[in-house]
Amino acid sequence: MLPWLDREVLIRLKKAEVYPELSPEAEDNPLEVRKALELGLARFRLLKLAQTLDRAFNTVFYNSLPVLISGKLKESLLDTAKTPLPAPYLEEKLYQALDKLPLTASDQLAQAPEMFLAVSQSEVAGVVTVPTSGSTGPAKRIFGTSADLENTEDFYYFGMRNLVNPVLCDKVALLMSGQRPGSVGYMLTRALERWPIPISVPGFPPLGQPELTQWYEELIKYAPTCLVGVPAQVLALARHELAPELNESLRTILLSGDVAPRSLVMALEEELPGTKVFLHYGQTEFGLAGAVECRYHTGPHLREADLLLEIIDQDGKRLGPGQIGEMVITSLSREAMPLIRYKTGDLAALAVGFCPCGSVFRRIQTFGRILDRICWPDGYSLPLWKISEVLYGLPGVVGFKALSPEEPDFCLKLLVKTKNEAEPVVKNELKELLKGRKWEISFQYDLLEKGQVTGKQILYKSE
Ligand SMILES: [Zn+2]
Repeated sequence: MLPWLDREVLIRLKKAEVYPELSPEAEDNPLEVRKALELGLARFRLLKLAQTLDRAFNTVFYNSLPVLISGKLKESLLDTAKTPLPAPYLEEKLYQALDKLPLTASDQLAQAPEMFLAVSQSEVAGVVTVPTSGSTGPAKRIFGTSADLENTEDFYYFGMRNLVNPVLCDKVALLMSGQRPGSVGYMLTRALERWPIPISVPGFPPLGQPELTQWYEELIKYAPTCLVGVPAQVLALARHELAPELNESLRTILLSGDVAPRSLVMALEEELPGTKVFLHYGQTEFGLAGAVECRYHTGPHLREADLLLEIIDQDGKRLGPGQIGEMVITSLSREAMPLIRYKTGDLAALAVGFCPCGSVFRRIQTFGRILDRICWPDGYSLPLWKISEVLYGLPGVVGFKALSPEEPDFCLKLLVKTKNEAEPVVKNELKELLKGRKWEISFQYDLLEKGQVTGKQILYKSE
């Protein structure tokens, strides 16, 4: 039997008439089926990229690109898809086509989102606004047509199969915003209605006391079997005194909205025994659906029928599996806002090797924002995720704040929120990471006060 995401894509490949005919014997051979899927997917991606070029030509931003005006690249993609060549060759051609296209910077999108619109305003069914991270620049406005929203719903519908099952009377609680068309809450609710699986949207945990306790008690009363939330916030709930009561109903957790350090995932599974943690990666620019983990937890599988991923270094050179670089994505299905080689600003690496689930979809490991990097004047620098990895592994930690080393003393200040009465011992790894630079750590125990340090990991530039 095919892995879950592959089953969904098989239907799409057959509909697009790119899935090769298989003999009845080959249909029974998993290796032959996998090869056929890879071939069908490679053909599909060539056709979809040609379609994206067409859509991009309808936007103000891309329509003056000579490579789109001539139409030759599109023709060669369509011709390559028809050739009787094996999948690796087709994939190589696909990436060669990308080399002919320019990169798109995220601030270009933030400054003039309308320039990326490929449909009329009347066809826009959802708009999501995201603040430009780490700057005071304009917020990005991301448009989606109803087909774009449905496409994400399809991904959620299939992606949630490892987390919930109607036969087990599962119930989902979404600890994120919303009801607005285009938001995670809206699309996840609609996807789960198809099973149907009940979903409640309590939203982000409130910051004050007694609001948090009241909110938490309501959540326990609802008895969700699955939580969907932001990593650090879910950890704070797992380290709350009410956690054992919540864990009575809980089976699975989907972490989304921020990078989840390995230590945080391990801490969650330790605090909530018997609950399995799954990772999701999604960018608003691509409909909030990018990759999701299977039951083997080897890293999220990329949604490669809808996205074309590259990992590049600072010079724009494409990197291979296991190498960390910037994630660059080309949309293959977005109607309202087709994006070509969009620099996401996120650090990631393609996972090495195969997943035991047997999916044809590759996996990624993400490491947060490129700009979240702590720099000292002597040139030494450290990505924030390395600090997160150490701190979330400490017992009792529910969040932290990092203040960038700045003048006059260039001292990195870490404020750690912890529920332990005694100050946890800072592990040697932190000392080793900071290699003799000035740093200080302080602890805060008033967890329920307003201004609780949870949510997305952020590197603050000044106090
Ligand atoms: Zn897998």
